[in-house]
Amino acid sequence: MIYPWQNTEWQLLNNQREHQRLPHAILLCGANGLGKSEFASSLAVSLLCESPQSNGESCGNCNSCRLTEAGTHPDLTYLAPEDESKVIKVDEIRALCTEFFLTSQFAGYKIAIINHADQMNINASNSLLKTLEEPNDQSILILVTSKPHRLPITIRSRCQSISFQVPDTQQASQWLSQNVSGDVSQLLNISHGAPLRAQHFADSDLPEQRKGLMEALLAVARNQPVIEHAQKLSKWPSHSLLGWAYDWVSDLLKLIHYGQNCNLVNQDYRKELIELSLKLQSVLLYQLLDQIIKFRKVQSIPLNTQMLWEDLLISWEQLLKRA
Ligand SMILES: [Zn+2]
Repeated sequence: MIYPWQNTEWQLLNNQREHQRLPHAILLCGANGLGKSEFASSLAVSLLCESPQSNGESCGNCNSCRLTEAGTHPDLTYLAPEDESKVIKVDEIRALCTEFFLTSQFAGYKIAIINHADQMNINASNSLLKTLEEPNDQSILILVTSKPHRLPITIRSRCQSISFQVPDTQQASQWLSQNVSGDVSQLLNISHGAPLRAQHFADSDLPEQRKGLMEALLAVARNQPVIEHAQKLSKWPSHSLLGWAYDWVSDLLKLIHYGQNCNLVNQDYRKELIELSLKLQSVLLYQLLDQIIKFRKVQSIPLNTQMLWEDLLISWEQLLKRA
């Protein structure tokens, strides 16, 4: 499906398609939660569709549409890491490229989609590069990533890059209010304006996890012991928690630098954040921010999450003591 905030990008590609000027490689980039991989699928399905609609979207009824719907279309290949923290290996890319070079079974396009393309290791990237250098006439490779800077420039330069932007608040709120219940404005704050991220947050147990983190931070600020809170936090996946911890510290820095009326991600904790910001020094908060960034970078390596949270909460505790 094409989300309302993706219309410009869709029209651009549809135009190129109508003029038979579609590139052989397309790089879809932009923040998580904007529907890039759904867009890639919709594009692939529509290119394979036997009688697309006037706006370029697939018909949903033809033989090709039924095969793509069932996930068995022989001319469409998907590749993604096993999970977001895993790499895409060279063997996987080789298999994809072999498939990609076979003649299309329906005499139309041959399409491959690589989600989280930034997770390719160096050998995988090199292997893919060879395919990009010798494209087949009817082949289209679609790379999807929220971290395009992690892709080698040699790959990026061979793709037509399409960058998705966070929609304006009105459009995002309107879509979200039709799809979730709850405080739409606050959900978008927490999700940095990305509507699908906000929807996922609202429909999962993430609000409970976020609340757990905020309670831990506030409890440690009230001199409660670190250990039991670290234990509680270690039960949850650290990826989202570290993101919220980052936002928490960023909010404190914003309050110190821009004053109490500035926009905050954690709008629902504004009162608590203002109180804390009055006591804290920005130089120490920057150190804590660096520590969080360091932990976010090494998340692909299995970490002892209990120790991770003990480390962070102790730093937070010391920062408050030095205030
Ligand atoms: Zn169709």
